[in-house]
Amino acid sequence: MNGTPDLSPLGLPRPELEQLFSGLGEKPFRARQLMRWMYGRGVLDPAEMTDLSGVLRETLATRGDFRLPAIDTVQESSDGTTKWRLAVGAGQLIETVFIPEEARGTLCVSSQVGCALDCSFCATGRQGFNRNLTAAEIIGQVVLADRALGRVAGNSRITNVVFMGMGEPLANFRSVVQACAVLIDDLGFQISRRRVTVSTSGLVPQIRKLALESNAALAVSLHAPDDELRNVLVPINRRHPIAELLQACWDYAESTNAMGITFEYVMLSGVNDSEAQARALAKLLKNRPAKVNLIPFNHFPGSDYRRSTPDALARFRQVLLDNRIMTMVRRTRGDDIAAACGQLAGQVSNRVLVALGDKGRKPAPGPALREVRWQN
Ligand code: SAH
Ligand code: SF4
Repeated sequence: MNGTPDLSPLGLPRPELEQLFSGLGEKPFRARQLMRWMYGRGVLDPAEMTDLSGVLRETLATRGDFRLPAIDTVQESSDGTTKWRLAVGAGQLIETVFIPEEARGTLCVSSQVGCALDCSFCATGRQGFNRNLTAAEIIGQVVLADRALGRVAGNSRITNVVFMGMGEPLANFRSVVQACAVLIDDLGFQISRRRVTVSTSGLVPQIRKLALESNAALAVSLHAPDDELRNVLVPINRRHPIAELLQACWDYAESTNAMGITFEYVMLSGVNDSEAQARALAKLLKNRPAKVNLIPFNHFPGSDYRRSTPDALARFRQVLLDNRIMTMVRRTRGDDIAAACGQLAGQVSNRVLVALGDKGRKPAPGPALREVRWQN
């Protein structure tokens, strides 16, 4: 058969892949074999999948779509961080970042081309939004990085995956849940669920849905201790204010038996970094299953925000520690190649306008706007 491939096995969770195979008249164990090839060995060419029948190899070769995003550029930071710019068609570029540390290697993946949520301190938000990535494009980032990084004694250098690249993962719910399943599966990337982290700016209904469909670790971008400020920094707060968001977090921690929720807090000089604000934050999180990750603001062209001073950061952290809240300061990695948190911009052409409801903020104007609604 010639023509466009109509089977997309990459990124499909095991039950769905088994269904795809049963549609081809194949036994479920074929799905397991294919997963071992794709994720265990990084092999995407059906011709090399020697334990599949000749007929199945032929079917997959003609009808299967195993394409990975195309590498546009690769940059390596002086601190060992690697950033890939990947082309996903129609002039759109996304970014994926690998951050090596002594005991682990974290891959930061993108979930959307751009982001519609327009947080005022974020380069991705500045870019606007074009579209959701498919599960194949999300898992494709992992396969591609895994291949490029090489394995050590047969083990992947990727021990953790965080959805902290471009995009709001919970606005692309279905594909992100599928990708999480593949990351965690023993026949997928075999990453413990505690090492797969979905980071959200606070889409409350989707947090509640995630608790039913996945048990990945949850990180929440809080960034302010009161609604007045959070409305400005994270506009989705106007729809889902802090009290509602935190209740969803505590429920998530309880129902998924999670170790706790990580709260991300970008440190913006003179905006959200006072000791009074630290005390207000402590009040919200005290005696809860919460830890805090303070992120020094990473500057990007066109932003007026400034990073908090080391002194302000230390004082803020001390208030939280005094309240027995585990608080880390995120080390800035890869900022010389614009790979640090919030610096990912990729290339978002042909931006679309996303309906955020009455209280949502209007997205930045862009050429050729067409309206889409949240998926799911
Ligand atoms: N959309 C998701 C995940 C991607 S952003 C979210 O908002 O959670 C990953 C983290 O980087 C978030 O906590 C985000 O708020 C933070 N961030 C965004 N811009 C930043 C910047 N310029 N400097 C530091 N952190 C930033
Ligand atoms: Fe989107 Fe997250 Fe950036 Fe906000 S911080 S604009 S939700 S990517």
